[in-house]
Amino acid sequence: MQLIEVQAGNCTGCRLCEMACSLVHEGECSTARSRIRVFRDEEFGNNLISVCLHCADPCCVESCLYGALNRDSATGLVGVDTRLCIGCGDCIVACPLSILDKDRATVLKCDLCGGDPECVKVCFSGALVLKDLDPGSPARKSLRDKTSQHLQQMQGTGKPGSRATSSL
Ligand code: SF4
Repeated sequence: MQLIEVQAGNCTGCRLCEMACSLVHEGECSTARSRIRVFRDEEFGNNLISVCLHCADPCCVESCLYGALNRDSATGLVGVDTRLCIGCGDCIVACPLSILDKDRATVLKCDLCGGDPECVKVCFSGALVLKDLDPGSPARKSLRDKTSQHLQQMQGTGKPGSRATSSL
């Protein structure tokens, strides 16, 4: 299935992906309402991209007691049914990539823009590429584990949370 391949080493930290995401989904350029997040690791001088991987074993789906998060059997994508979501935040805690966030009464969740993601279109550095990928592949699991570890390390040092500053 077509998914976003993340090459964080190519990321310039421009955050155009965040702007495009919030504009398309929310009608405004607000990085706080984006479904993709870019963090700057000041200690090592690199960027970390947190975006939903539509995992083969999604922790968010398992954590939701209300059945609001599910995998679409037709597309294979993990999505949220906002009619069922009560905004309890259990999925936000469960996601190892800290990509889910709450906005008003429901969670913000990447829907891959229906298969043609805007973040990929505006990423000119090659950090985000749409590719035919297996969500359950070892490479995909490794990406999730490494990104999760990196996020935890940054949070442990108190340095990560800093969202990347545009380098443009
Ligand atoms: S658009 Fe690409 S290069 Fe710019 S912050 Fe997003 S992932 Fe990084």
